[in-house]
Amino acid sequence: MLKYILDVVILKNIYGLTLEELEDYFISIGSKKFHARQLFSWIYEKRIKSFSEITDIKKEIIDKLKIDFNNNRLKIVSIENDKDVSKYLFELEDGEHIEAVLMRHDYGNSVCISSQVGCNMGCKFCESGRRRRVRNLETYEMVLQILMIDELLDDRVDNVVVMGIGEPFDNYDNLIKFLTIINHPKGLAIGARHITVSTCGIIPKILEFAHFPLQINLAVSLHAPNDELRSKIMPINKKYPLNDLILALKKYLSITNRRITFEYILLKDINDTKECALELANLVKNINCYINLIPYNETENIGFKRTNAIQIMRFYDILKKNNINVTIRREFGGNISAACGQLRSKKEDV
Ligand code: SAH
Repeated sequence: MLKYILDVVILKNIYGLTLEELEDYFISIGSKKFHARQLFSWIYEKRIKSFSEITDIKKEIIDKLKIDFNNNRLKIVSIENDKDVSKYLFELEDGEHIEAVLMRHDYGNSVCISSQVGCNMGCKFCESGRRRRVRNLETYEMVLQILMIDELLDDRVDNVVVMGIGEPFDNYDNLIKFLTIINHPKGLAIGARHITVSTCGIIPKILEFAHFPLQINLAVSLHAPNDELRSKIMPINKKYPLNDLILALKKYLSITNRRITFEYILLKDINDTKECALELANLVKNINCYINLIPYNETENIGFKRTNAIQIMRFYDILKKNNINVTIRREFGGNISAACGQLRSKKEDV
């Protein structure tokens, strides 16, 4: 109960509450639990801008709602469009900036959202990591990235990937609430199989996530096939080395039976050699997974170069020949700085 009271005090924004928390809220004010479902329908289905628009809940309760919660949106600073990609820069209430990217695929609209302001993982190739974590995003700040893009579209958001700025498993509790809200049929109703969370490999949270009841996809940023190289480009590997990571993922698979995606950025002359491809094939050969090869999005502040298309195909062929499921990520948004953290960097010049 105390935790719940604290949550309400901290999470004043209505978009940060799960249906269950709202039910507890209505009970705590001596009202009826079923108002939570009505309220969810008003905010997520009818998309009201003010609690005054609610017609099926008594006025005294609405007045109480207005005291206890706000339904503020995020501020949109800019929207950059490039063919099938749009990038949104949002300002938060404390003046911080985060970004989300919309990609229009043939199979629907995907939105990539941020989970933190800054990031502490320090991956050497990543723009987001150049700025240490300032704070975690609140649940409502994650929900609103999707809700607002959904509203701006004349269409709906079909897929969500948590692959923007931040390490989602470093903001685990808010992430779980966010996933619960966007998946709920009365919330944004985005199917669990249409949601992907990407982590750099925080083992304890991977194991915890295995028990989360929703069938959400897990992606793991691998980027190197051995500890020596991985520790050089991803400092988190010193804390959670590859052997332990692979063991944890096997455990995850045994619990969930859901295929894992490995992300592998190809960095010229760093992790794109024939030896790396063979070593990678060997590393994942007994895991139910597929590898997503990602052409690196070069950024002016970081020295890494992208592997050329021929070399990418060679890398791909080696994996294929070794019976690994592999795809090459279609490129999106290079012209509008759509790689993780690039737009915020431009805006803030850090
Ligand atoms: N922290 C999480 C999610 C955010 S990063 C994670 O590590 O998975 C999302 C993905 O974008 C990661 O695979 C990351 O390595 C990749 N990425 C970062 N910078 C990139 C760039 N410049 N070009 C292509 N992919 C990049």
